[in-house]
Amino acid sequence: SACVVLDHRHQLRTNALPRKQRAFRGHLGSNPIEKYLDLPLPEDKIMATYVWIDGTGENLRYKDRTLDYIPKTPKDKFTLFMENWNKKVMDEMFSKIAYTHSAKYLPPYDYYPRNLENIYRAECRLRTKRNINVFDENMKDLPIISYDGFGAQQASREDSDLFLCPRAIYRNPFRIGNHLLVMCDTYDKNMDPTPSNYRVKCADAYKKCQEEEPWFGIEQEYYFLTTGDGRPLGWPEGGFPQTSDRYYCGIGIDKMLAREIVNAHYRCCLYAGIPLHGVNAEIGPSQWEYQVGPSVGLDAGDDVWMARFIMDMLAADFGVQVTLDPKPFEAWEGSGAHTNFSTKQMRAENGIEYIEKAIHKLRRVHFKHIKAYDPHGGKDNMRRLIGTHETECITTFSAGVAERFNSIRIPRTVAEKKRGFVEDRRPSSNVDPYKCIDALMRTCLLNE
Ligand code: ADP
Ligand code: MN
Ligand code: MN
Ligand code: MN
Ligand code: MN
Repeated sequence: SACVVLDHRHQLRTNALPRKQRAFRGHLGSNPIEKYLDLPLPEDKIMATYVWIDGTGENLRYKDRTLDYIPKTPKDKFTLFMENWNKKVMDEMFSKIAYTHSAKYLPPYDYYPRNLENIYRAECRLRTKRNINVFDENMKDLPIISYDGFGAQQASREDSDLFLCPRAIYRNPFRIGNHLLVMCDTYDKNMDPTPSNYRVKCADAYKKCQEEEPWFGIEQEYYFLTTGDGRPLGWPEGGFPQTSDRYYCGIGIDKMLAREIVNAHYRCCLYAGIPLHGVNAEIGPSQWEYQVGPSVGLDAGDDVWMARFIMDMLAADFGVQVTLDPKPFEAWEGSGAHTNFSTKQMRAENGIEYIEKAIHKLRRVHFKHIKAYDPHGGKDNMRRLIGTHETECITTFSAGVAERFNSIRIPRTVAEKKRGFVEDRRPSSNVDPYKCIDALMRTCLLNE
């Protein structure tokens, strides 16, 4: 609905954006949009929102596609299809495509008669090469679609056609009904992953250590910013708020702001099917956190990206911005994406033994992880991991029980019960979760 901003007394005000922005957003005082959103749709029209990571490796984009059937939505089932692909199914499907002209049998991607065979061949190569599944018979429910990679900062102008491959399906909290959010990854014309597609590598790692049942719980920290001057929401103009001790899990309009958005996000995520573990106000004013998970293996990456997408969409609705910059202000708390990690063995009796083993392995490849823990090879985290504000220095590896100035923390309850999980505090708030959990699986489980 209307824009929400804060006035100088930190009160939420609606429609108080500067005139210029109001005009840009098309607000004319009333809110005619409801009228149109209430229009009933034919039952067989499903809107699928394809979400993907663009060339920056940090930002999300989306495009919508209408389907005239309800795809099979449960994520687990969908994942299963992907895992159980076999060539026979693909061949059968392909023969149908080749011999019928009925729209019912359109291939599971945009129909390019000239390219069809090439795409199919490229796909077979991809499968054998990387053991990753892209198509299967039920994928006719969710087409692979093409998009303008040049426009998304991930392809040259001359060769701009890229492909979105549906990977995980969620319910769309912005549209209700059977409408969907679809987390995708991206491929070039040869069906090779684009440079910012780290999901493929992560899927490969997960496949190799599935039996150990790796779980991930990711704590996503972030700041809300105003759309006007890009300052954190509610911070005094040109200055800084009072000391940080008043904000963590705080209440009161003078302390934590934009609770509306946080609550909306919480609900939207649960509605969508993203397992949110919880939410809390953080140490910095206008800094918040939500925790995703525990999610199983690769799902953690899909879940975190989709939770970020929902937050971006919501914040825009409320007229504020979200920043995942790991250190927006030097003197203030940075934002991380602490990654909690466990395996079947760690969760079982005396699992602490395996936790310690994992920490030992992590110690040896500290910098390899630092490289993977932000989108700029460690550069972003250099501003954040400085040994203050509950971080360890970027150059040091440390581990301990219940100590938040460490790289790795074993929660107190885990140490007491001698089983559970371990927290890697190094990943920055803007980390690509696929990259981060890939690194953890490879180091701790695959011994790479
Ligand atoms: P902190 O004390 O570090 O702020 P939080 O409560 O914010 O902890 O986050 C805890 C995270 O740990 C959540 O994301 C949760 O999903 C995750 N988690 C809990 N149990 C496990 C487990 N067995 N394996 C992996 N992650 C777990
Ligand atoms: Mn177009
Ligand atoms: Mn937390
Ligand atoms: Mn936190
Ligand atoms: Mn934490």
